[in-house]
Amino acid sequence: MVKNYDVVVIGAGPAGSTAAKLAAEAGYHTLLVDKARFPRHKTCASWINRLAFERFPDLEPHRAELVDSAFHGITFLDERLARQARWSERRPSGYLSLRSRFDNGLKDIAVSAGADFREGSGLAALSFENGGVTIRLENGDEFRGRTLIGADGAHSRVAYLSGLRRGWKANEYVLCANEDLPYSAEEIARRYSDRRPLLVALRFDGLVGYGWIFPKRDHLCVGLGGRLGPGERIQDPYRKFFHVCQERHLLPADLAPQKPYYDLDPAGAVNKGGPLVRGPVVLVGDAGGFVSGSTGEGIYPAMETALLAVELIDRGLRRGHLEEELARFQTLWRARLGGYLRDLPGGEHREQTVDRIGLIFRSRLVCGVAARAFLYGEPLTLATLARAVWS
Ligand SMILES: Cc1cc2nc3c(=O)[nH]c(=O)nc-3n(C[C@H](O)[C@H](O)[C@H](O)COP(=O)(O)OP(=O)(O)OC[C@H]3O[C@@H](n4cnc5c(N)ncnc54)[C@H](O)[C@@H]3O)c2cc1C
Repeated sequence: MVKNYDVVVIGAGPAGSTAAKLAAEAGYHTLLVDKARFPRHKTCASWINRLAFERFPDLEPHRAELVDSAFHGITFLDERLARQARWSERRPSGYLSLRSRFDNGLKDIAVSAGADFREGSGLAALSFENGGVTIRLENGDEFRGRTLIGADGAHSRVAYLSGLRRGWKANEYVLCANEDLPYSAEEIARRYSDRRPLLVALRFDGLVGYGWIFPKRDHLCVGLGGRLGPGERIQDPYRKFFHVCQERHLLPADLAPQKPYYDLDPAGAVNKGGPLVRGPVVLVGDAGGFVSGSTGEGIYPAMETALLAVELIDRGLRRGHLEEELARFQTLWRARLGGYLRDLPGGEHREQTVDRIGLIFRSRLVCGVAARAFLYGEPLTLATLARAVWS
């Protein structure tokens, strides 16, 4: 028998769990579905912008369960890891976690808010019926929603089955390697300090992207991501990055790559303008390509787009104009996140970009502006310059 809900959410990552929590709190009978059993792995460096906690203050009491350490600012490294420029902040710039932990915590919060949670069986089929959406899971269970939120990540089945998108084009994603390597908490604190920054190697070895070391509480997260040409692999540049980091004493000599995960990140994809809404179906988070074109950051944007979708659904269901309200999502996201998710200009012109990056290592002010652009998605303007001076 088909079970009826007001709101069905596919995917219990940051986008889906945020959407399910908000919809349940607003009084809607809400179903949250994930193909994985929780806690589950997600390939991610798991830097969570402090804007996420400022925008969703209800998360603050749960912070200790969701994240493991704060970070303060950023250290930029150049493409050979030869030069460093540090920008630090007194208060936390954001938090580091393991995604298994962060996402499990957000899912629990959604369930506490009243959402039903089904795990371990993915979306298999979707059909538009009587103004709503009927879904079938791989285990055969069927549900019907008045509306459906596709929050099932970069390889979204909702996007495919609803006819919104068949796949990403080559210029709509970056390829990444990432691993969280267990390491002594005392040694991490000694080596990177208690007020540790993110370490970011812009354009490592000429890659259109960057490498990273994120010193977490008891893990060192190492990764590399960028736009690659046809047939190019991220595996080899990643191994080289790891090796050069050790040569430059940025990583401990006794650390070795274990089992890096490889995945794509739809960085800046939403800027390319594909459809995000069809009737009662909307795509949020990675499913919609809501990832910064400059940094590949997508957790905070996933949560923000979930909030926008639920606001429109709430207004639409109350007024009886769901599809008209939801259609506004296609343009309204720009007002909230358009600047944040932009692609920084010049990425594809190597010489020009490397010259510009060189300024970060020559001027503290330029370093501050670049840091704020990276960490908070701020534009390269005088206002950002002023904030870089005062923060
Ligand atoms: C290597 C790498 C590093 C990154 N580092 C960062 C970072 O440090 N900070 C940051 O902010 N962002 C980072 N990102 C981006 C970030 O991981 C994503 O933007 C974020 O996870 C998006 O959240 P989401 O909820 O939209 O999707 P996801 O977190 O991918 O969640 C989607 C959920 O949907 C479920 N699902 C998938 N298919 C189905 C199906 N058919 N049926 C049911 N459920 C399904 C999955 O199991 C999953 O739980 C990184 C990405 C990569 C690849």
